[in-house]
Amino acid sequence: DMTIAGFDDVLFDAMQKEVGRQEAHIELIASENYASPRVLEAQGSQLTNKYAEGYPGKRYYGGCEFVDIAENLAIDYAKELFGATYVNVQPHSGSQANSAVFQALVKPGDTILGMSLDAGGHLTHGAKPSFSGKHYNAIQYGLNDQELIDYDQVAQLAREHKPKMIIAGFSAYSQIVDWAKFREIADEVGAYLLVDMAHVSGLVAAGVYPSPLPHAHVVTSTTHKTLRGPRSGVILSAENDADIEKKLQSAVFPGGQGGPLMHVIAAKAICFKEAMAPEFKTYQQQVVKSAKAMAKVFIDRGYDIVSGGTEDHLFLLSLIKQGVTGKDADAALGRAHITVNKNAVPNDPQSPFVTSGLRIGTPAVTTRGFGEEECTQLAGWICDILDVLAKGEDTSAIEAKVLDKVAEVCTRLPVYK
Ligand code: PLP
Repeated sequence: DMTIAGFDDVLFDAMQKEVGRQEAHIELIASENYASPRVLEAQGSQLTNKYAEGYPGKRYYGGCEFVDIAENLAIDYAKELFGATYVNVQPHSGSQANSAVFQALVKPGDTILGMSLDAGGHLTHGAKPSFSGKHYNAIQYGLNDQELIDYDQVAQLAREHKPKMIIAGFSAYSQIVDWAKFREIADEVGAYLLVDMAHVSGLVAAGVYPSPLPHAHVVTSTTHKTLRGPRSGVILSAENDADIEKKLQSAVFPGGQGGPLMHVIAAKAICFKEAMAPEFKTYQQQVVKSAKAMAKVFIDRGYDIVSGGTEDHLFLLSLIKQGVTGKDADAALGRAHITVNKNAVPNDPQSPFVTSGLRIGTPAVTTRGFGEEECTQLAGWICDILDVLAKGEDTSAIEAKVLDKVAEVCTRLPVYK
């Protein structure tokens, strides 16, 4: 018997409980999704056994003829899906993809300009604890008083600091980014433009969010968020610049990684192919409609949404006015089996570990079949709990009430049928 059950029951039990949790809880973490059974099949396959350092047709190991087919399919599908002329499907994650672009295009000590973490940027866009903030002279831009990206500040910082690379893209921003404007600024100061579309790549693939491909020198993405594939990364370009492409190839391997994860690359091929189907477009349209529907409920019930609304799959709820912390709100909702993440909001009086906000996203619930009706109800239940928290009263009764409704909808709309 080669199953996990019986070999390590503690581990098996934890794995079973995680599956149960995913079914029984409503997932609103904006960066999560449920991969398809095909994606799971590829990731659990024997392709995990194969060493394939190098690239298709130019490997350092024998026996790569079949994994070459898989990697070429992944590359070709991604090119078709995003209108890219260059694709590297080997980065193990979004951070690895970004790290490879840094290695390819800038040198340690060079100046880079990215969105700050508290404005909605990612760690790898120049935040201090990350390689991007440690080994580079990272300048950071943020939001204006309308809580929109401050393009004037981006231009001014670019002129002042002359960065070698500008990074656009975000982990928590609910409006449309003007990719062309970023390229204009980059061109003015002779910088490369890297767009990290990790959060919106599924929306971009479906044509419901503007594509950065026509504007950026290089685009990176994760494949597991709105794109709904395996936990991994990808680098793309439509710049047709042979020098950039050559540098990217060697920055991924051997610059930052050894053997590619061929089982995950096969899963990426599936993800890109699934994203070309008409149902994927309908899915992404629903993701945005449901995010808008939820944001409307919060606004109607007196809660503030950062930047006033959403045009993508997520939004930030600011609880500053209510005097509720993100930490308490996250915990109360968690007890009702609604999973969100606490998130700092503009002018947050609380520490980054406590915060005064929540980040809410609709990719996962939409995958399990929630439409606007369910999302509208759900936002109402969240408000019911937040209202009691805001009064400083005990939330256990309302949590129990919401928990029953969550259980009902999760049973009615299972993740894996
Ligand atoms: N880039 C952005 C914009 C992200 O939001 C994230 C994930 O949170 C990443 C990169 C990093 O991806 P990974 O967690 O796969 O390293």
